[in-house]
Amino acid sequence: MSWAILPRHFEPFEFACRCGCGSQSVSAALVLRLDAVREILGRRIFVTSGRRCAKHNATPAVGGSENSRHLIGCAADVRPDYGASLTDLAACLALFFSTPGDEFIVYKDRGFVHVAVSRALVRPLWNGGKIEYI
Ligand SMILES: [Zn+2]
Ligand SMILES: [Zn+2]
Repeated sequence: MSWAILPRHFEPFEFACRCGCGSQSVSAALVLRLDAVREILGRRIFVTSGRRCAKHNATPAVGGSENSRHLIGCAADVRPDYGASLTDLAACLALFFSTPGDEFIVYKDRGFVHVAVSRALVRPLWNGGKIEYI
């Protein structure tokens, strides 16, 4: 059985590396989980950091670790919609990012949540359009 699904709430540019290098492909599993959370909450979710190239990840402002999953498109930092609760967003994300191999870290003071899927779920990568599973 094969199927295809189109993420409803995200566009590829939202996950683009903030240095402007053009790198923006991320794990389809990551996007679909975030899409589900977005659907359940009924509020926007802003990606503050998605895919990162090695150069951008290493900048002091980012301070990403050498083996950050942002480097391979398996991680995203997200914040709630304006006026929406970080706690509600975190609670919903926890449901989708608590299987073994996932990452789920709430940065309460900085107002965002870091989530990541297992490296094993890096493919298929998503760069817009339907995600097809064969
Ligand atoms: Zn970059
Ligand atoms: Zn992160």
